[in-house]
Amino acid sequence: MQLSQRITHITGGGSDGWDVFYKARRMIADGEPVIELTIGEHDIRTDAVILGAMDRSARGGHTGYAMVPGTQDLRASVATRIQERTGVPTTYENILITPGGQAGLFAAHVATCNGGDRALYIDPYYATYPGTIRGVGAEPVVVRTRAEDAFQPRAEDIQVEAEKGAASLLINTPNNPTGIVYSAETLEGIARVCRDNNIWLISDEVYDTQVWDGEHISPRSLPDMAERTLVVGSMSKSHAMTGSRVGWVCGPKDAIEHLINLATHTTYGVAGFIQDAAAFALEQGPDLEQEIAAPFRRRRQIARDILAEQNTVGLIPAQGAMYLMLDVRATGLSGEDFANSLLDTHKIATMPGESFGTAAHGHVRVAMTVDDDTFSNALKTLVDHAKTLSY
Ligand code: PMP
Repeated sequence: MQLSQRITHITGGGSDGWDVFYKARRMIADGEPVIELTIGEHDIRTDAVILGAMDRSARGGHTGYAMVPGTQDLRASVATRIQERTGVPTTYENILITPGGQAGLFAAHVATCNGGDRALYIDPYYATYPGTIRGVGAEPVVVRTRAEDAFQPRAEDIQVEAEKGAASLLINTPNNPTGIVYSAETLEGIARVCRDNNIWLISDEVYDTQVWDGEHISPRSLPDMAERTLVVGSMSKSHAMTGSRVGWVCGPKDAIEHLINLATHTTYGVAGFIQDAAAFALEQGPDLEQEIAAPFRRRRQIARDILAEQNTVGLIPAQGAMYLMLDVRATGLSGEDFANSLLDTHKIATMPGESFGTAAHGHVRVAMTVDDDTFSNALKTLVDHAKTLSY
């Protein structure tokens, strides 16, 4: 039996730079002591106080079907948080609770793209982006950034693709994989392109609590953008709740009404006890968020100190998120070859820049997701390895 093109073409096919990751996973399965600096999973688990709230809710009976759009409590807490952080008037009617940010990204593209529409996204990109776009039957169109711009997108590059026709533009700040935070200038340029070309902005802000330098600006707060922006958020990174699968889409009320119809016919909502735990977690306010972000802030500083003492490995200014993008072009190797050689020689697993598109070739992404000492030693080894290769 034939499956649909839409599902068989979700992944692009061919080598996608993930071979190093799978090799590391095989080595671990074979019992080898690999240090994994690959994916964005915290080295802590969900806090016990949040688990307590989850337990109380489940035992209290919140195990049946929950409200499809999300519980009133959680929708209101998310709206309050967004309004407090951005100043944009936001109520529960602007919020749909989704099973994680990923489901929010998919729903946002369903809401904005017809079949065959061009949907723009920025390279380097989070691994699921092109597949998410293909999954809704739209055409992924990439806009490349440059290492020499520290991977800040240029509005004129987006404009070139936007004027050929596009339904949406997907951006992510703080950014995975580069660790950069888009500047006010970058975001104003992006907003202008969206307004001028009448396209939707899908703003992935799942790392909004992890900002080390400068500030996170939500583009929904820029002039005339609230009516054309869908913000995707999540409890995964802010509250170390990756496994709970809880996030949201924030947008205009009428868009959210349609997205609720989509949820009714796809996910049918998110478990009530998970939503209660999420609402409890948000009630704890920014202190808990900062506590969860603190290890990454600390390790970013550890990395900066180590990298300041040499000039073989370059550091893309790491302003946010749990990753560092390291420039290893001085070794003469591609990111993929460097990552392979580091894994083979020192059993340290990183992600080649090529796993995230073509713009970050010759780079590797390091996730700051192991304890400080292991992280520090791994980074020193990485630098020494790069030096050996570049002589
Ligand atoms: N966007 C980005 C940029 C991410 O890095 C991730 C997870 N790694 C997600 C969205 C999805 O996160 P979740 O579905 O766990 O909320």
